[in-house]
Amino acid sequence: MKIPREVFVGRRKRFMAAIEDGVAVLPSAPVSVRSNDVEYIYRQDNDFYYLTGFAEPESVAVFAPGNPDGEFILFVRPRDREREIWTGRRAGVEGAVADFGADRAYQIDELDRVLPEILARVEKIYYPLGNNEPMNQRMVGWLRQCQAMRPRSGAGANSLLDPREILHEMRLFKEPEELEVMRRAIAISNLAHQRAMREARGGKGEWTVEAAIEYTFRSEGAAGPSYPSIVASGPNATILHYIHNDREMRRGELLLIDAGCEYDFYASDITRTFPIGARFSPVQRDLYQLVLDAQLKGIEIVRPGISIDDVHEAALKVLVEGMRSLKMLEGSADEILAKGTYRRFYMHRTSHWLGMDVHDVGNYRKGGKPRLLEPGMVLTCEPGIYIAPDDEEAPEEMRGIGIRIEDDVLVTPDGHEVLSAAVPKQISEIEALTTA
Ligand code: MG
Ligand code: MG
Repeated sequence: MKIPREVFVGRRKRFMAAIEDGVAVLPSAPVSVRSNDVEYIYRQDNDFYYLTGFAEPESVAVFAPGNPDGEFILFVRPRDREREIWTGRRAGVEGAVADFGADRAYQIDELDRVLPEILARVEKIYYPLGNNEPMNQRMVGWLRQCQAMRPRSGAGANSLLDPREILHEMRLFKEPEELEVMRRAIAISNLAHQRAMREARGGKGEWTVEAAIEYTFRSEGAAGPSYPSIVASGPNATILHYIHNDREMRRGELLLIDAGCEYDFYASDITRTFPIGARFSPVQRDLYQLVLDAQLKGIEIVRPGISIDDVHEAALKVLVEGMRSLKMLEGSADEILAKGTYRRFYMHRTSHWLGMDVHDVGNYRKGGKPRLLEPGMVLTCEPGIYIAPDDEEAPEEMRGIGIRIEDDVLVTPDGHEVLSAAVPKQISEIEALTTA
């Protein structure tokens, strides 16, 4: 399952309509070195891939509506028999046109010759000033060149705009084909989480669970994890971004797993917390049920017209009431919310966008206000409670417990759909797997 070619064609049309008479230049992601002469596995820049479907490094995509030489132009690495024996097949100039739909394609080393001519015909350049520093410098050079010519030619690029304003707004709304890929990513992650619940047992290392999860991802055809897998047993679950996964698990402790695979450039992001090889203890059960109630409340209100802040507040209200009745916090709910004392146990927000990036692009606010949800947006709902092992003011039996439950939620025209609904989260469903 892959995003079909015609979806990329449609995106390019909409993007070019938005940049009107400007020219957009998007560089591929730079190659990064892991150590000495070994590179990290290459992954294309999401904005670049979103418009091109082209995953090779050392390429540049140019979008030039109305350009006589072609509107979609790719600069790519040339075919090279010798290099391809070492590092794999390249599409080359011919493949860029035949397989990726470019109107024109050039070898990447022709960029300095061809691009300035295109830029000399327009007023506005759309270019993302990202972390590709060498390309940033070249772009400044081309812009300066254009600006220097303007007094005599009366034309040429004069301003630099950010294409991400347009692209990220597009990426925020998922097309049906994207949702299909996301459903596949989530289905694979579901298998991995269920396997973890069955296989995590006292005496085993957290890493064995990490391995089982990532084995599942790869063997089901996913690229791998879409972010470093968090497999946090016992007190490690109170560390929000714990990724060492190097502790031996103990039976009856909680295991918090925040893991999701990436499939065809789309992320999934799912968290489950369960007792290792056992049933929930009474205190674990109380805290777990509280986080679950908060999460269900947050999800329940998701529909067009409400904001991500509303989701957070709905979940937070349930958490705060529960923390009061479990004697974790003193004072009225209003006081606790006003003073923010709940942050001792719940220090992060409840939701983020999800898509090609795990913390996906797209503005959370518009015109100074939280933006309202619309059909096609995908967000997470992931409240939690984390009680530090050394928190001497917290009830003793709760110290060192960390719980988070996270699902991926699509906003639909009349409400929502929990895309990760198949991943067990009710206490009885979980215990059936942890004690199997
Ligand atoms: Mg997560
Ligand atoms: Mg998340």
